[in-house]
Amino acid sequence: MNLVWFRNDLRIQDNPALSAAAADETSPVAALYLICSQQIDCYGIGKNQQAYLFQSLQLLHQELAKKNIPLFIIPSSTFKSVPNQIKTICEQLEVEKLYFNIEYPIDERVRDRQVVEALEETVKCFRFVGDSLVAPWLLVNGSGNGYKVFTPFSKAHANILSDMPVELSNPIKPRSSDNRLAIAKIVRKNAASQLSAEDSDEADQSDFVFITKQWLTDCCPSKLTSIEIPSSSHQQLKNQLENFCEDKIVEYSELRDFPNIDATSRISSALALGCISANECYQIARQGHNENASAWTRQLVWRDFYRSVMWHFPHVCKGQAFLDVDTAINWSHDLVALNNFKQGQTGVPIIDAAIQQLLKSGWMHNRLRMVVASYFCKNLWLDWRIGEAFFAEHLFDYDFANNNGGWQWSASVGTDASPYFRVFNPQAQQKKFDKDGEFIRQWLPSLRQVESNKIHSFETSQLDNYPKPQVDLKSSRKQAIDSFKNAKLSNENFG
Ligand code: FAD
Repeated sequence: MNLVWFRNDLRIQDNPALSAAAADETSPVAALYLICSQQIDCYGIGKNQQAYLFQSLQLLHQELAKKNIPLFIIPSSTFKSVPNQIKTICEQLEVEKLYFNIEYPIDERVRDRQVVEALEETVKCFRFVGDSLVAPWLLVNGSGNGYKVFTPFSKAHANILSDMPVELSNPIKPRSSDNRLAIAKIVRKNAASQLSAEDSDEADQSDFVFITKQWLTDCCPSKLTSIEIPSSSHQQLKNQLENFCEDKIVEYSELRDFPNIDATSRISSALALGCISANECYQIARQGHNENASAWTRQLVWRDFYRSVMWHFPHVCKGQAFLDVDTAINWSHDLVALNNFKQGQTGVPIIDAAIQQLLKSGWMHNRLRMVVASYFCKNLWLDWRIGEAFFAEHLFDYDFANNNGGWQWSASVGTDASPYFRVFNPQAQQKKFDKDGEFIRQWLPSLRQVESNKIHSFETSQLDNYPKPQVDLKSSRKQAIDSFKNAKLSNENFG
């Protein structure tokens, strides 16, 4: 038996682990997904992305069923328990070969190493690259270290892609119904308690989703969130991206910073859970749009960059900043400022509108993520880790590497961080990127009747039903720069 262990690659298209397992036509093929509650808790993954995960799993199960490949979805409580759990599952299913795509965060890497060790004598493990255009271990400088700065990284990345162009893995052929029968027989023969219908009152044996009724109720996507969940359907995602490439990619670099214009792909949630692969997105963008696609595909290179940072500098996965200076900074934990921020009540219209977009749609425009994170760290001086967690709680597209990289960049404590003295001025940002106040009015009903110039002069205007700015932008910025400078000095002296 070949077992494919799905993780953040919830797709059957361009899934190298699945393709390799299915290429072997002589063995039955089954699929597995472990829902690890500790993983969900550790990352602080909120209800929106949980809903998206469960929706994507349901779809994956249906897609695999069409190919006669059963998917076992099994709860798993901790990271530590996974190696033994996989070992037991492999015994019960008489697995000879285990296939999976590599995950890059450190805990996942340690877990996978332990799984391979636990199976060493009984099961052959095959690992593949499925979550980046280029494997992070190939992206090293002359001294063999990971890149800390994006520009040289992107050059090395381009060189690798020109030698090894992006290729999609082979589509899988449907297997005959014998595949399902063979697996059902094995499950029955071994009375596999974890997999059998006994503990799964709702289990549909013909479809092989061996999960309990309670679990199904808890994990019903529409019960987790009332916000519209992004699509997990590969066909719809492909259409979405093709339409974007057809209509919008040409103007992407010109319009991508304006939050009131729908000028970006909105493919991030699907990429975060692997409902579509980065390789396929790259290929779609390049086909027929070659000269215009590079500004957009560059974003996929940023995605690879933050994955590479995680791979080469795993301390960023442990709540630590890339730069030491972070340890010398006394970040604020002011609960009043934090609560105002979380409710979009800061008195800075572009920030409050961005927070409303996040709370009401589960997504935030990239320019606003930068402006909001800068305001959070540099004007409110709040600990970037709290902001990072707040985004994780609400984003459908929450992605540890991108989110952590984005927050560390904004706090000036990451790789290729924004210089500490360059602080976004939210007022200048809203004037530049939402000149007519359309985005602000869309998300802040109390300002709907207010003229743009009054909205932009929010520090001095009297705005009815709208809070006064909770901090003075100019002095808080100066204070942040001074504090950062001092932290840098003390870190250099004592570090
Ligand atoms: P497009 O502009 O169409 O870009 C295409 C894809 O490229 C995106 O879907 C994404 O996968 C990738 N990408 C785009 N910008 C970046 C970037 N700056 N860094 C890395 N990859 C990028 N992105 C997430 O996917 N998940 C997050 O949790 C996340 N948190 C962020 C937090 C902060 C503070 C900041 C500044 C950025 C964050 N980003 C995150 C990056 C970026 O904002 C989103 O990827 C983008 O807004 C998603 O919209 P889109 O799919 O329309 O992007």
